[in-house]
Amino acid sequence: MFKVAIDGPSGAGKSTIAKTAAQILGFVYIDTGAMYRTAALSCLKENINIKESPEKAIEVVNNISIDIDYIDGEQRIFLNGEDVSDKIRTPEVSMGASDVSAIGAVREKLVNLQRDLAGTKNVIMDGRDIGTHVLPDANVKIFLTASAEVRAQRRFKELIEKGTQVLYEDVLSDIIKRDRQDETREVSPLKKAEDAVLADTSELTLDESIKLVLDIINKKRDV
Ligand code: C5P
Repeated sequence: MFKVAIDGPSGAGKSTIAKTAAQILGFVYIDTGAMYRTAALSCLKENINIKESPEKAIEVVNNISIDIDYIDGEQRIFLNGEDVSDKIRTPEVSMGASDVSAIGAVREKLVNLQRDLAGTKNVIMDGRDIGTHVLPDANVKIFLTASAEVRAQRRFKELIEKGTQVLYEDVLSDIIKRDRQDETREVSPLKKAEDAVLADTSELTLDESIKLVLDIINKKRDV
């Protein structure tokens, strides 16, 4: 099996780039952020304040089922059988995902699920700790990043296009807050694996970023 790990901060373009690269290579794309988002949604549905009551969050997450399926090549994610792929894309769920992902017991459940999914297929998996923790033996590791301002601009544009009312300043401060939280947490903080290739997309278009990632992967596949 050939495994590609792509890590990096929010809004670096990981999911779009990883999804497109996987389609081109015929690999399965696994979006691990969607799993943390789904765990957060399950807590928000129960009105749990994740930061104040982590033990309640653990209990809820231990009792849910999270399933991944592929419909027309797109990853869809299910919470207790319900397709929540669209519901998990709100700013509230983004922050909840960052909160829930700092809890060790939650990470353990989701990491097991991620390793199972990667066990039998060629995959591109994106997240924060894939190269450092989930798939330490990945054939290719890429740390994809861009400046906070560029990432906020991209996320802002995406949300506006979807019809979500947001201010650029709020998107930027959310990104900076999530970065800080993801980089400083005790369990599996966001950091570049020593053997990961650093790819900065601040100055690149989407097409150029995809090409850069494909070049890095193909170099290791000897094609
Ligand atoms: O990638 P995405 O923005 O969807 O991830 C949402 C949140 O889930 C991140 O801010 C991060 O806190 C958490 N996450 C994580 N480990 C992963 C993937 C996501 O901690 N492998």
